[in-house]
This record gives sequence, structure tokens and C-alpha cells, in this order.
Amino acid sequence: MINNQLKLILVSTPIGYLGSGKGGGVELTIISLIKGLILLGHKITLIAPKGSKLPFESELLQIRLIDGIDQPSWQHQKKTDPVVIPSNSVLPRLWEEVLDISNQFDAVINFSYDWLPLWLTKTQSTKIFHLISMGSESLIMKEIISEISQLVPSQLAFHTKRQSKDYLLKNDPIIVGNGFDKENYLFNENMNGPLGWAGRIAPEKGLEDAVKVASHLSEKLLVWGLIEDKEYASKIENTFEIEIIDWRGFLPTNKFQEELGRCRALINTPKWNEAYGNVIVEAMACGVPVIAYDLGGPGELIEDGFNGFLVRPNDIEGLIKATKSISEIKRKNCRDWFEKKATNKVFAKRVENWLNKGLNKKISADVQD
Ligand code: UDP
Repeated sequence: MINNQLKLILVSTPIGYLGSGKGGGVELTIISLIKGLILLGHKITLIAPKGSKLPFESELLQIRLIDGIDQPSWQHQKKTDPVVIPSNSVLPRLWEEVLDISNQFDAVINFSYDWLPLWLTKTQSTKIFHLISMGSESLIMKEIISEISQLVPSQLAFHTKRQSKDYLLKNDPIIVGNGFDKENYLFNENMNGPLGWAGRIAPEKGLEDAVKVASHLSEKLLVWGLIEDKEYASKIENTFEIEIIDWRGFLPTNKFQEELGRCRALINTPKWNEAYGNVIVEAMACGVPVIAYDLGGPGELIEDGFNGFLVRPNDIEGLIKATKSISEIKRKNCRDWFEKKATNKVFAKRVENWLNKGLNKKISADVQD
């Protein structure tokens, strides 16, 4: 392996430190990928906002923490908004650190959905790869992603095909999916638990639809996730006379998976082109079937009738019907799907192939879809 070892810089999201929850699914994606790449023998330097923590250590891992103000996230801006970099923003500082050391590395992988790193790609001799974490929410981001695709198509990758369709790309997109550490999720056989919902509490995640389902069935809905939009959260609560939501908070992965695993189903109700949907796969890793809107990533993760059900977006009746039929789904199917398609090891292999292709190196054949 040592001959094929890559020396890589991974640059974290500037929206919040790793562990804050502000970075959404990107946080777990980075942590899982670092572990997967280390398992494959690669050497990693992580550059991340101050306060970031990883749940493991390794001789192959170095962390550089950078101080600065969080960047605003693109999903809460208007389509035509310009690029904003606040005073003392951590974003340029992360990239100053990258530029200082990048000549000692084979490649850089960027996880921030932001204009600056994409633009920098045009100016640097070190190859900067971008794992694009969102569908298109802004014109200027769409433009720069399309421009990089024209210049260096092999340096862009996406989580799902449906996400990539938001962009004008030169070639067929490189799809790397996502992946999570198998050891962190325990299979739970219990089919009779409560209904669950997980995600950032923000309008694009559509919590209100899952609450309607629980209310119709006169049940509680267990809800995990960071409350990003307090007004939105209390508006949902105030719509229902009875207390339906059981707020479980934003939990670390080990606690989250333990509680999630007790559910009989996870309901996933995005209102945007969800790039992937980490919580869907985390639920499946615990054996929990998922009922989701057929919109963006969920449509590529759920095989209707095998590991959950897909429902037309905004179809509450469809969600209710699927919830009533959930015992038809074998919980073992969900775990099997996860082990085959979405462990951090298979994810890291796909990323390794993407990097090797972009660096014009040999590509390994044994990668699962
Ligand atoms: N999450 C968590 N603890 C919780 C609830 C959620 O760590 O109590 C994490 C979850 O593991 C996932 C992320 O929050 O990685 C949500 O990511 P997802 O891709 O589902 O949506 P995003 O926030 O990126 O839109």
C-alpha cells in the first residue's frame, strides 16, 4: 500500500466546527471519510475550524485548527445573492493554511460548499478536488461549479446523480455516494418502536409533514437534530393542539444511533433537492426502514419495498399509507443494503478511485456501487 499512499489535505466546512452540528451531514461525511482513507493507508492532514474534534486518533492523521467567524450557509440565502465573506471569516483563513502547505501534498479535498475554494482551483498547481455537498441553491455557485466542470471535470464529485443534475456539467458526473463506520451502528431487531424523524430543524427539511403523519396516527414523533430555525420549530409545535413532537436534541452519533435504532420507521420529508440524506442511511444501518419523499438523494438510497418506501413529494396520505405498511419491510434488508453500499470503507474506495483518476494514477477494480 505504501507505494500507493496519497498525502492528502482535507478542508472542512467553514459553517461551523466539526461537532457543532451547524455543518449538517457534511460533518459526519468528513469524519467517516477520514477514517475510511486511513484504513486504506493514506496520510491525512485535516484543516478545520477551531473547536473541531474527531472521535479517533491515528499516526496517519494530523489536524490543524483555524480560528475565525463561521460562514453563512448558502441554503438560507436567495438564489441571486452574491458571495459574502464576513469580517474575520474562517473561510479565507482555512485556505491560506492550505496554500501554505499544499506543495507537500498530492491533492486537496474541499468539503465546503463555497465559491472561494472552487475559484482557487483555477489558480493553483496542486490539484483541488471538490465533493459537492448540496444541490443548486444559488446562481453564482451554479456558475462556478459549471466553470470548474468545463476546466477540470475529474476534480468534481457528487453524492448522488439526482443532486448532480442541478448543475451544467461537461462530462457524466462522478458519483461517490457517502459512507459511515459500520462499528458505530448496531442492528436493532425491534419492529414495534415509535416513529422517528431526524435532521436540521429548518424549512427545507420539511419536519411538519412527518408531524402530520404522527398526529393522524395519534402517536408521538421522536425528533433528533439541531434547531437551526427556532421560529420555524415553534410554528410547527403551535400548529397542533396536542404535543406530538418528542424533542430528543442533537446527540452524538453513539447516542443518536441507539435511540434511532429503536424506531419502527424513520420518516424523511425533504422539500429541496436533498443531495444525499445521511440520516436515511444511518437509520438503515440500525435496521430501521425509511419512508421518504422521492426527491433528490432519498430516491437513490431507498429501493421501494425493500429497505423502505418512496412517496410522491408532499403526499401526506402516501406517507400515512406507507407507515401503516412498514412491517412488510425486513429490517435485515436495511442493514444489508447499508453494509453493501454505504460503509465508510466502500465510500473511501470510491473516493480513492476518483482521486486516482484525477491524478492520472492506476484505479482499483473492487469498488461497489
Ligand atoms: N445528527 C446527529 N445527531 C442528531 C441528529 C442528527 O449527529 O441528534 C447528524 C446526522 O448524523 C447527519 C446530520 O446530522 O450526519 C444530518 O445530515 P443530513 O445529510 O441528513 O442532512 P443535512 O443537514 O446535511 O441537510
